[in-house]
Amino acid sequence: MQSLLFKPQVPLVVADGLGVDSTAMLVGMHQRGMRPDLILFADTGSEKQKTYDYLPVRQAYLASIGFPPVIVVRYEPKNFKNYPPYKSLGENCLTNGTLPSLAFGFKSCSQKWKVAPQDAFVSEWVPALRCWALGGRVVKCIGYDDGPKDSKRYAHVEGYEDPRYEYRYPLREWHWDREECIRQIRAAGLPVPCKSACFFCPATKPEELKELSPENLRFIVAMEARAHPRLTAIDGLWRCGCKGTRGGVAKPGRMTDYIRAKGLLPAEEVDRLWQSIPKRIEEYQAAVQGGSPLADFLSAEDLQTEPPKPHEPDVV
Ligand code: SF4
Repeated sequence: MQSLLFKPQVPLVVADGLGVDSTAMLVGMHQRGMRPDLILFADTGSEKQKTYDYLPVRQAYLASIGFPPVIVVRYEPKNFKNYPPYKSLGENCLTNGTLPSLAFGFKSCSQKWKVAPQDAFVSEWVPALRCWALGGRVVKCIGYDDGPKDSKRYAHVEGYEDPRYEYRYPLREWHWDREECIRQIRAAGLPVPCKSACFFCPATKPEELKELSPENLRFIVAMEARAHPRLTAIDGLWRCGCKGTRGGVAKPGRMTDYIRAKGLLPAEEVDRLWQSIPKRIEEYQAAVQGGSPLADFLSAEDLQTEPPKPHEPDVV
């Protein structure tokens, strides 16, 4: 096993997803006297509410063990190809009438909304600048566990060389799989967080949809309905679905179909959203060119009422 001691001038950064693996990684680092210099959480704006709710728990734990607090970073969209302006990955998809890139077999959603904001922060962080000036590399700890699923993810990045970062996977070095991570979190007296991911992530398992709020489920229906006319090679967030043979879990290509079939939302509501949302967003886009953010539309009673009118200029 590689030594986990780091040279003093080499900053130690933790990429914190606020999920099980990240929590266990921080617990294990504390056990081993590894104090991070920086802990970053990249907020896509579309995380599950339970993940946001876990942030104060994380901050209290970090303070109790003398670790620095989590710094929340965000991708700030500036150059909009389409309007209205968006502030989250979900709004980005609704505005552009598309789905997160993972649905198409790519990973640019994660790169753009998760990795890039963290790298942008570190690129202006003085300890990193000092380290790089001396020819060193910042150590970035990533919470891939030692179970079969994360082993596949790790296989894709193993051996990747970056002139600015040395990537470390402490959970793998400690041989902690998912079960061991959960055991260690409980042993540290912490609540076990939910799986951290955007609530509409194409990697979501069917049964995980049952844990989402009605607002999140309506958003998923809206996203798939809006993207539907532009999709040619896939049906929806679950691509072309899965028949459930060869050990896979059966699921349709669209989460919307699962939501309807399982009664997670009333069928009439799903149908109403599916038929009305694309047209209403287009009307809203035309009305607010460059103006009101999409959030104003989305907050119109959870997509159930007519969208608000564009902001009128103040009369003085
Ligand atoms: S959680 Fe899923 S949808 Fe969100 S950025 Fe990561 S891969 Fe993309």
